[in-house]
Amino acid sequence: MGVPGRPHSGTGQATIFTGRNVPELLGKHYGPKPDKQTRTLLAEDNLFKQVVGRGHRSALLEAYPASWHRAVESGRRLRSSYQLAAHEAGIRILNQDDMLRGDALPVDWTGEHWPRNQGREMVPFRSPGDAGAQLVRLARRHTLSLFAHWPSDVIGHRGTLDEAISLLERFDEVMAAVLGAWDDDEGMIIICSDHGNMEHIGDRRHTLNDVPTVVIGKGRERFDEGFRNLADIAPRILEALIAEERIRQRPRKD
Ligand SMILES: [Zn+2]
Repeated sequence: MGVPGRPHSGTGQATIFTGRNVPELLGKHYGPKPDKQTRTLLAEDNLFKQVVGRGHRSALLEAYPASWHRAVESGRRLRSSYQLAAHEAGIRILNQDDMLRGDALPVDWTGEHWPRNQGREMVPFRSPGDAGAQLVRLARRHTLSLFAHWPSDVIGHRGTLDEAISLLERFDEVMAAVLGAWDDDEGMIIICSDHGNMEHIGDRRHTLNDVPTVVIGKGRERFDEGFRNLADIAPRILEALIAEERIRQRPRKD
């Protein structure tokens, strides 16, 4: 992003969802949670607000346990930048009940790490394949869906190489099911990251490596043109959305 120092999630995620180079605006990388200036930028405008403002449905597809919701509501915990971006657009962050109804997935996909003291029912375990298929079913309900899989950051900071490998193997299984269910004509799947970390086990800090952005499906060639960094993601998603709206509004000739 042209700013010296290690990248952090607060400013990295805010860059993805505002389309602005937030580390450059702040003069530094900051995180993991957004600072006041970043929170102001996210409240002013962000991709979720644009999408919802144009009359589309949008959601975060991962659920959080009651303990997370209580901590946020009491002010003990700040929302991450991507959570705040959604919140500012009026998007509700989902909970265990949503997950039990099948309207959300646990952040680890299978539910093995879901806290066991959240009352009522146990969270059913899903296979990674089931989780991938469910991810596609949920994504079809919305114009823009985000699934944030941050356990890769946790393992990047504190995990072992074996844990990193097993997370990537699971990721592959989920993605295989996603790609099996997804039709390219339905739209784009974008896989990106706010910073590197897990690719260098042994260094507990975020890395200075470039992060890949993988774009699959209809519109990917246009998305790819002139793509440079995280600030290019939101404008390209909006551009694809607007192009799709125009196609749908075009009068039919028959
Ligand atoms: Zn981190």
